[in-house]
Amino acid sequence: MIKIAFIASEAVPFSKTGGLADVAGALPRALASRGAEVRVFLPFYRVTREADRTLSLSKTAGAAETDWRGGRVRFGLRVSHQRGYSVHFIEQDDYFDREGLYGTSAGDYPDNGERFGFFCLAALEAMRKDSFRPDIVHTHDWQSALSLAYLRNRFSEDAFFKGTSSVFTIHNLAYQGLFPREILSAVGLPDNLFHHEEMEFYGRVSFLKAGILYASAVTTVSPTYSREIQTPEFGCGLDGLLRHRSEVLSGILNGVDASEWDPAKDRHIAARYTPDKREGKKTCKADLLKTFGLPIDEEDIPVMGMVTRLAAQKGLDILADALDGLFEEKLRLVILGQGDPSLERRLAEAQKRRPDAFGIRLGFDETLAHKIYAGSDLFLIPSRYEPCGLTQMYSLKYGTIPVVRATGGLEDTVQEFDPETRRGNGFKFREAAPDALLGAVRRAGKILRRKDLWASLVGNAMACDFSWDRSAEDYLRLYRGILGSP
Ligand code: ADP
Repeated sequence: MIKIAFIASEAVPFSKTGGLADVAGALPRALASRGAEVRVFLPFYRVTREADRTLSLSKTAGAAETDWRGGRVRFGLRVSHQRGYSVHFIEQDDYFDREGLYGTSAGDYPDNGERFGFFCLAALEAMRKDSFRPDIVHTHDWQSALSLAYLRNRFSEDAFFKGTSSVFTIHNLAYQGLFPREILSAVGLPDNLFHHEEMEFYGRVSFLKAGILYASAVTTVSPTYSREIQTPEFGCGLDGLLRHRSEVLSGILNGVDASEWDPAKDRHIAARYTPDKREGKKTCKADLLKTFGLPIDEEDIPVMGMVTRLAAQKGLDILADALDGLFEEKLRLVILGQGDPSLERRLAEAQKRRPDAFGIRLGFDETLAHKIYAGSDLFLIPSRYEPCGLTQMYSLKYGTIPVVRATGGLEDTVQEFDPETRRGNGFKFREAAPDALLGAVRRAGKILRRKDLWASLVGNAMACDFSWDRSAEDYLRLYRGILGSP
């Protein structure tokens, strides 16, 4: 049985800021159901402890120690048994008992390098303590990439990890974990890693680079994004290195966790529905309008939803520039989002101008997210880049038609609807410009008015299969291909 240690900085249902949590919450189960032995390693954050209080998800599992900053540091271990696999928490309150995972609205925590360095090292120590000797260490994004630097530098002579291979998955290349040179000694790594062929990146230390350099295989979360990041436009300065590693770089599309995202079973929404019996969707729409305090009228005006981090990546500036044009169409817009204060302000001001047509909720709200996927007719994702994107896959499952910019995983999962052949599942635009966005919304509007065509389109959307099964098979094939090649 192949043994996989999955090191991630967030996972549903314990902690979440974005798509990584959905992946780290679902992929381990899909791997385990195919016979892999999987252990997931996560920090024990304050939100995790709070969830634990109500759900009793974990129990203590002793403690371990590691060399850290010139002394020995003890940390707690907790474990939670999930269906087919287990989750192991690193409990170190100085680092993780804080309001946010990575920071607050005021910015990132200044000691993030140290926090996640400690997490990466402690995860490896926890494996040793429990004699869990992984065939594969699978790390995700900069927060867990340092595990691979430790494996190579601190544990290279350690028989325990001999023969362990590694995978690094890039969920978003733009977040790199950049720190001053001194971080290397602070986290117990040799200063000679400050070299352009190692972790140095334009005068700073890049944790993400450790993942790309030291992993046996590198993946990203869609085939298109895996090609895009090898170009200067999307490469964030790392495209040269990614081209250099192109032989071990591949794209594996994320999936949808059907136990969380299924309109036939969803406990968050006002009525349940299936591809064959879609009446419930109307109830969900009325409930959504009510939740946002928008009028419910005879005319059944289309609702376009968004659930998104409010970040430059997500193309909200393109949307903001398109708002006046959008409201000339008969359309209602509802947005759930959190993030960049200037974007929050800009959207809130626009909402005040058109309270009859525009609803906005600033914050993170899992239930409301489900209501938006279910109750909207259209779902807008104008991203400037999108490694995979889960929200278009969720909306498709809920029969809500995505209008997306053709980039990364959006390009791979959404096909423009063709009214002639009735093929396709959404609407796409290429140029990152308000007019292009408006063009796609108008094309969608035309089909919306043709009830029979719209019904075909919704049928196509709900029939899309984005289960984790296929992706889990791809990961297992990848793992088997690198077994024993650290
Ligand atoms: P990213 O990871 O770049 O934010 P993804 O599309 O991969 O984008 O994943 C986003 C995930 O986070 C989805 O599960 C989405 O529903 C969720 N999400 C984003 N913003 C919010 C929010 N404000 N409230 C609730 N869920 C959110």
